[in-house]
Amino acid sequence: MEARIVVLPGDGVGPEVIREAVACLQVVADAFGHRFAFQEALIGGAAVDACGDPLPERTLELCRSADAVLLGAVGGPAWDKHPRDQRPESGLLRLRQALGLYANLRPVTVHPALEDASPVKPQIVRGTDLMIVRELSGGLYFGEPRMFSPERALNTLLYTREEILRVARVAFELARNRRRQLVSVDKANVLETSRLWRQVVDEVATDYPEISVQHAYVDSFAMALITRPRDFDVVLTENLFGDILSDEAAVLAGSLGLLPSASLGGTVGLFEPIHGSAPDIAGQDKANPIGTILSAAMLLRHAFGLTEEAAALETAVDRTLRDGHGTGDLQGAKHRHGTASLGAVIRTAITAVRPTVPGLAVILP
Ligand code: NAD
Repeated sequence: MEARIVVLPGDGVGPEVIREAVACLQVVADAFGHRFAFQEALIGGAAVDACGDPLPERTLELCRSADAVLLGAVGGPAWDKHPRDQRPESGLLRLRQALGLYANLRPVTVHPALEDASPVKPQIVRGTDLMIVRELSGGLYFGEPRMFSPERALNTLLYTREEILRVARVAFELARNRRRQLVSVDKANVLETSRLWRQVVDEVATDYPEISVQHAYVDSFAMALITRPRDFDVVLTENLFGDILSDEAAVLAGSLGLLPSASLGGTVGLFEPIHGSAPDIAGQDKANPIGTILSAAMLLRHAFGLTEEAAALETAVDRTLRDGHGTGDLQGAKHRHGTASLGAVIRTAITAVRPTVPGLAVILP
């Protein structure tokens, strides 16, 4: 297949991890006979510096007409004091909203080679395999009115029935193809938005009698997630809770640098690691590129339906970790690498999973 992928490196470690992910996609394209055209554009602080807008019109137009978007990370101390609409993060929020991305999928698995990498005991993290589905375009991050003064600040938490319905359906569909368990996380004992959330989730559940559904309060769920993560399959939650819980879940995996995400719902999907721009290690070839490379695998699967290609990339990452390769954030990795060198190991592993036959690529569909 031929496809156009818009690449948004962003700030901090973003360009470093994106470089490795794009190179991996290129190896997959060669191995399976696809042609991917990569088109780079500015977002975040880099875009503020270049043209005074964290989401320039050109970037938005390119993304709207792309087949998929791959993003690194945005933000950093250089822009922390900018007004809200000039902050890198507001560019990303606007992009997600403009593309109509309401469902953020964050898979969390614990690789057998990394059971000791988590500060949580190996016998607790072993076998963890969950999928957090975070509502992405509503809730507190987008609520109006909002207000800031030195004396008072206001944000508004709003959810509509339709916003809850559509993300709940995504979660139930995912659960149907997994272990058929879904836990919906809210704060229905305190918040009206959560009571509506619970009501709508129960309504959607009637269409999926084969799926076992539980409701949990976010405070006690935060504890359950870290003490018995194996008990959970699909975790459905709203924007703010999902943001926090998925960073908590990253502790189980061993590093924030390992985890990918896919944002879906509109016509174009956005794929990005869950970590930020990591200013403390930016420009030092220290960032773990695996979260971004696994986001590229999600891109292949969810944007293009290329399941075999996605699996080849995931298997290459799996073998790389199994053989003890890793960046400095992975405690106990036998072979320590920088960002670029770990990317190269993964690319070699892709060709071992799926050797490229010279000349064959041009005649394969
Ligand atoms: P962060 O995720 O950037 O970093 C948290 C910690 O994890 C740091 O110690 C960092 O070194 C480490 N880390 C992150 N990614 C890593 C990787 N790939 N490999 C190894 N270690 C990694 O979170 P933060 O420090 O709270 O935020 C930094 C900036 O990123 C802020 O400006 C924030 O707003 C922004 N941010 C952006 C996104 C995004 O672009 N989607 C998400 C979160 C935070």
